[in-house]
Amino acid sequence: MDRPLTQNIKADRPFATLSDYLKTGGYQGLAHAINNLQPKEVQQWVRDAGLRGRGGAGFNTGLKWSLVPMPEPNDADRNPTHYLVVNGDEMEPGTFKDRLLLEKDPHQLLEGIAIAAYAIQAQTAYIFLRGEYHLAAERLTHALEEARTQGYVGEHLLHSDFSLQIHLHTSAGRYICGEESALLNALEGKRATPRPKPPFAVVSGLWGKPTVVNNVETLCNVPHILHYGVEWYRSLGRGEDKGTKLFGASGRVKRPGLWELPMGTPIREILEDHAGGMQDGYKMRGFLPGGASTDFLLPEHLDVPMEYDAVAKAGSRMGTGTIIVLDDQTCPVQMVLNLEQFFAQESCGWCTPCRDGLPWTVTLLKDIIEGRGRLEDLDTLAGLTRMLGPGNTFCALAPGAMEPLQSALKYFRADFERYICCGNTILESG
Ligand code: NAD
Repeated sequence: MDRPLTQNIKADRPFATLSDYLKTGGYQGLAHAINNLQPKEVQQWVRDAGLRGRGGAGFNTGLKWSLVPMPEPNDADRNPTHYLVVNGDEMEPGTFKDRLLLEKDPHQLLEGIAIAAYAIQAQTAYIFLRGEYHLAAERLTHALEEARTQGYVGEHLLHSDFSLQIHLHTSAGRYICGEESALLNALEGKRATPRPKPPFAVVSGLWGKPTVVNNVETLCNVPHILHYGVEWYRSLGRGEDKGTKLFGASGRVKRPGLWELPMGTPIREILEDHAGGMQDGYKMRGFLPGGASTDFLLPEHLDVPMEYDAVAKAGSRMGTGTIIVLDDQTCPVQMVLNLEQFFAQESCGWCTPCRDGLPWTVTLLKDIIEGRGRLEDLDTLAGLTRMLGPGNTFCALAPGAMEPLQSALKYFRADFERYICCGNTILESG
């Protein structure tokens, strides 16, 4: 089986019901974990499998779980409070992978949650879902009822000593709520601003208790690791990283969409074989490999394998693995303006560089596009990419926002200059 995550997604049915899910081995990974393994052994399986966080950062999932302080035999409190929080607040522009998993196979996520909660001994889990994902909310609510009725969730899971309650929470709808510490504040009913790190959530998270925050796609991998084993999972990757991943493509390709492919699949294969190449009459100028907050890469990078370190070596990040293609009839300056407007609007305003720097970036880009730009503005923009870069803000929103800008200044500088010198755009110049 080479497509574990999407094996139950079929064109002839709207989604996988509980009975569909059970037919392909559903909840057997959970049974194996609870009946045969200690929580720390489950952590070790997932760590050895090499599963890395699919939200975008790629932190080793089993390692993250192992950082939760677990009770020792002599501890007075044998049952300390831990939480598992599912990050389903998928709002990265160009990214729509979790939505597919949530809508089409909700039990896969619930099984992943149950195994992860057992591994970190969390008796309460929250699914923090993007507010606009109405269909996902409906299907998850129904699946949760079924799972409770069948004993996959609730008191004494599968007749064991372990109990788990899962709550669905729909977001009020801001991009910053997907940042894990802002998400935890939102869940606590506070203003959704990021928290300083450290401490990381695994030590002090929801209501100050050890909390693991995992992305939807990450958790969907877990049942298969427990069911089919570590070696099988590792064998699915084509390069350094293990398992499969949902890769996507949008922009002027022939068949925009999502495909489950081995980690390490070359970008060319995703864009040419699966997305069908560029639409007739368009050429590729570049692409953002993993959502809007990643650096542009160029056609010369098409043979880079889609995996965390290889994409980083090429000068970008794999991020969410959903590629946004820039064609030769779309102006890169206008594309970047569009993205920066989004990021400026979504800044939570908590730290000054992000709150003030992003609107300034937008103003400068608009000035350039509308014919008021000066060549010095390009230096100011480059300065902003440094000022809003890593280490200068509470969270990754502004540094992420600077990635497409800094790489556009590097690769498409002539397009910026043409506006300033000639008021010319790529469309006018043909
Ligand atoms: P991060 O590297 O700071 O953290 C990733 C995870 O690892 C977090 O859970 C964090 O708590 C944990 N972690 C990191 N260092 C740790 C340590 N020393 N000890 C314990 N835990 C540790 O990244 P981030 O800011 O959480 O996420 C940024 C990523 O999010 C970017 O890669 C971006 O592509 C992605 N992103 C995704 C979406 C989406 O919709 N899926 C939206 C925006 C951004």
